Amino acid sequence: MIVRKQLYFSCLAASIGLASPFALAQQKHSHAHEHGKGNLEITLDKNRIVSRFISPLQALIGFERLPKTKSENDAITALNQRLQNPAALFSVNAEAECKPAILENKIVRDAANKHADLHYQVEFNCTKPAALKQMTILLLKDTKHLKEVRVEFVGPSGQKSSTATAKSSTVMLN
Ligand SMILES: [Zn+2]
Repeated sequence: MIVRKQLYFSCLAASIGLASPFALAQQKHSHAHEHGKGNLEITLDKNRIVSRFISPLQALIGFERLPKTKSENDAITALNQRLQNPAALFSVNAEAECKPAILENKIVRDAANKHADLHYQVEFNCTKPAALKQMTILLLKDTKHLKEVRVEFVGPSGQKSSTATAKSSTVMLN
């Protein structure tokens, strides 16, 4: 807990300590960038779910500056491989028969290459939307540095916020 707080403050310190035009952009970026914590926006519209996941790269591989060693390069390669299979990261209950497709998959770095976010957007097209119940964030179960995901769900009955963790990684889609 204490470690996470310190990391968060070091992020903020990095963004306000620079007096350049980049500092402004970086400061804005730091609001959503908290080490160990990802953000997930789920939008449900008829038979289509879009899940937009933004996470500090640190939460996914343990560091986020440019890789320097072979093991750091390997960690990025392994992450890229994981990201090719969205159904293994976010799963919708099987009865709804949803097929995932990746809409966006990129790493956004700050100007100093100190902090970076993964932007990962997946669309699920469902054959039986009436059977939609829940999405499980499988990513939380086996990603050591990802401690929680703040979820915003937008569906036909309105908007809901929640926090998912490894122990409670399922989001209700109603
Ligand atoms: Zn960072």
